[in-house]
Amino acid sequence: MPTLFERIIQGELPAAFVHRDDRVVAFRDIHPRAPTHILIVPIKPIRTANDVGADDAALLGHMFVVAAAIARKEGIAEDGYRLIVNCNAHGGQEVYHLHLHLLGGKPLGPMVSV
Ligand code: AMP
Repeated sequence: MPTLFERIIQGELPAAFVHRDDRVVAFRDIHPRAPTHILIVPIKPIRTANDVGADDAALLGHMFVVAAAIARKEGIAEDGYRLIVNCNAHGGQEVYHLHLHLLGGKPLGPMVSV
């Protein structure tokens, strides 16, 4: 079964894309938790952070380069932002296709609430 994000990447489901290249896409989160909430998603479907291999090092670095470029384009780079990867149940992962959340546009408060 393709993941939800594979279906978005293939164009089977709509999304508000802000970036696309040969390795990564980025689109706005459907339930934004901040004024800017964008998901940076590798085209290669890696299930979780636990499944990242040494071969993926350049891809993950590229995701950060893309995230920083989008933050600049969105005008949130100077004030700052947060990049999050959720992993498995305790991390609150909902979609099992690795992705980086880019959140910003307001002070985001503490990193986690306990
Ligand atoms: P995570 O909990 O880290 O797996 O995050 C999954 C994210 O995907 C959540 O923030 C959802 O709001 C978001 N999401 C789910 N479905 C869609 C969709 N169709 N388009 C854009 N974002 C989505």
